Amino acid sequence: MYYSLFEIFSVGIGPSSSHTVGPMRAAKRYVDNLRNTADINAVKRVKTTLYGSLALTGVGHGTLNAVVYGLLGLEAQAIDLEQDYIGQVKAQKKLNLGGEIEIDFDFDSDIVLEKKTFLPEHSNGMKFTAYDMNGNSILEEVYFSVGGGTIARQDEMAQRIERAPLAVPYQFNSCRELLDMCRRDGLSIADLVLKNENALQSSENVRQGILRLADIMQETVNRGIKADGVLPGGLKLKRRAAKMNADLALKFSENDVDALMIVDWINLWAFAVAEENAAGGKIVTAPTMGSAGVLPAVMRYYQRFVIQKSPYERQQADIVFLATASAICSLYRANASISGAEVGCQGEIGVACSMAAGGLAAVMGGSLSQIENAAEIAMEHNLGLTCDPVKGLVQVPCIERNAMGAVKAVNAARLAMHNTNGSYLVSLDSIIKTMYETGLNLSSKYKETSLAGLATNVSC
Ligand code: SF4
Repeated sequence: MYYSLFEIFSVGIGPSSSHTVGPMRAAKRYVDNLRNTADINAVKRVKTTLYGSLALTGVGHGTLNAVVYGLLGLEAQAIDLEQDYIGQVKAQKKLNLGGEIEIDFDFDSDIVLEKKTFLPEHSNGMKFTAYDMNGNSILEEVYFSVGGGTIARQDEMAQRIERAPLAVPYQFNSCRELLDMCRRDGLSIADLVLKNENALQSSENVRQGILRLADIMQETVNRGIKADGVLPGGLKLKRRAAKMNADLALKFSENDVDALMIVDWINLWAFAVAEENAAGGKIVTAPTMGSAGVLPAVMRYYQRFVIQKSPYERQQADIVFLATASAICSLYRANASISGAEVGCQGEIGVACSMAAGGLAAVMGGSLSQIENAAEIAMEHNLGLTCDPVKGLVQVPCIERNAMGAVKAVNAARLAMHNTNGSYLVSLDSIIKTMYETGLNLSSKYKETSLAGLATNVSC
């Protein structure tokens, strides 16, 4: 199944695509359904029940606020970060449902956390129920946030259908199929993705849309390296990117360079985005928000240290990078998962690392085999990566983990570029299968529940 580049990279509000973007979209869709299939004016109360991972880490991940944004009928692009929507709802105990009718809303009793209940379809479940003035249910729907901000209603989950297949010329379900089509038609992976995207909208829209995503990613880096202060949520974690930036700039001005300074720069750029995400900033999912620092850091790395070209060629590099990375992500979404709640952090930082490694190999002029090899190496050394964020916040280990993922992606691409004979033992398809099986076998304690690991061993 082909996933569009614009499904994979979407703009949202941090800190978690599965715990904020998904629930917000689900709540918004529920309200739209309420408006279209029932009498929204009869609604007196809406109750939201969060299950499993959403209940266990939802407070730290901002899920409750995201649900309220969705019930207000807001979309991420339209949110004004200066406006205190949540504060108003809490203070007034009123909510403007779908921007249409005002209902009573009590943050504490109208959002219920079912921490011990995991719905069978997926650990990120949520139920919305609207009641009339007599307490009768008007509409009840169950949704799942399945990763990267993608949602599915219960009836769609039964067949694991998120949507109908897109009308594109190249559908692929495995890396083997993808590379066979590329070889048959003389295309790079990025060419194939662009042909698919051009079948869905004009080529100019596609080009401008991709460049806009690249710009937003780099704007986030720029914001993050200037922002100072303490991250929200109670860990009292001080933001580090601004200080890292100042230290590096000073070293640079004093010509105090060391051979591994590039690693410091990559760390800085990944930190900048991950801290912006933790602070609830505007973020491009890549593939998720928790892992959104990996790709922008690798992009800035090749723009600064690898390619010395014209502005047009620099733009082309970003297009090749993001198109290649999106095809790799498509394979993980079709055959495994990008949800930390389903497969642990392998599905977030692991997939981001794999996408970035393949994309970087493509920008460096790698062959189809080298791109596959880079993406495979990157995941092979993220197998088993758990998700156990301290206090349920997307901060520890998440912020440093973005930096580690970005540096590992660069190394994976470099290893693959040295492999010039086109042979390697482990295919990308087999590592994706292995990652998924490993994720399913991981105890649920290590899948975005904060019931074990760092979350229980770090005192704060
Ligand atoms: S540990 Fe990984 S999967 Fe879990 S919240 Fe952090 S970045 Fe996401």
